[in-house]
Amino acid sequence: MLHIIRDNPDSGVSFTLRDPLYVKMDQYNVHAEKNVVHNRDIDRMQFTIKESKIETLEHLKSSTAARKSLSVEDIYERILMAVSEHRLQPGMQLVEDRLAKIFDVSRTKIREATVRLVHDRIAINIPNRGAFVASPTADEARQLFAARRLIEPELMRLAARNATPKQVAMLRAHIEKENAARKKNGFAIIPLSGEFHLTVAEMAGNSFLARTLRELESITCLVIILYDTHGAHGCPYDDHQFLVDAIEARDPDRAGRLMLEHLDHIEASLNLTPPAERHIALEEAFR
Ligand SMILES: [Zn+2]
Repeated sequence: MLHIIRDNPDSGVSFTLRDPLYVKMDQYNVHAEKNVVHNRDIDRMQFTIKESKIETLEHLKSSTAARKSLSVEDIYERILMAVSEHRLQPGMQLVEDRLAKIFDVSRTKIREATVRLVHDRIAINIPNRGAFVASPTADEARQLFAARRLIEPELMRLAARNATPKQVAMLRAHIEKENAARKKNGFAIIPLSGEFHLTVAEMAGNSFLARTLRELESITCLVIILYDTHGAHGCPYDDHQFLVDAIEARDPDRAGRLMLEHLDHIEASLNLTPPAERHIALEEAFR
């Protein structure tokens, strides 16, 4: 697997893809079709590609040169990727000076990245001890779904009443992206699945409910990353399709009921026992 994260604008990698591939960049999904994608051309990117998908690959500068200029954003994304791939385990301490050495950056940058990770609930801060990779318990995961069950059926009902045909078309286009991402078997399907829910929430027209869901969604991502039994596949296939059908049919009752079932499906796909503990050093997680 090749993990590409924006490096220094003057360095990084360029590659040519063997097949069409949806590449997730920030909030956008870019269809990179046998094109050279050079990270000088874009502001921020992070994705994982199987090396077999790549026709040519060129490292443009030494990785040491690239590492020296890692931004706070880069560090944040590398740590997030390491958590998603279970290289960094729940409960593991994010030791500032060791991370500074690993990424060859100042401790200030590590601290800033850690503050963001804590803000996004990927990490927690324990006073006088430092930051640790968050470890939502099975019980917290259940509470999370209980909270979503309370608000999301209502968001769906509102969306079924308020969504315009243009918005329905937007949701259908989003599902196409999900299907493409699912075929690639990568991590991208999890945030994409989450975006579907947030997009529906925006369409519902209740900003307080939408904001609450945004907060719950970021924790859901972490829960799925940690507990999904099927290799982090996000929302079950086809469920979103049926939800959009109900919105398009302007059937609030069906839309609400289907969302409830959908949340049950997601929760049922999780194995709410902590992943087996492996004692590895922080340095090994980023090799
Ligand atoms: Zn979903």
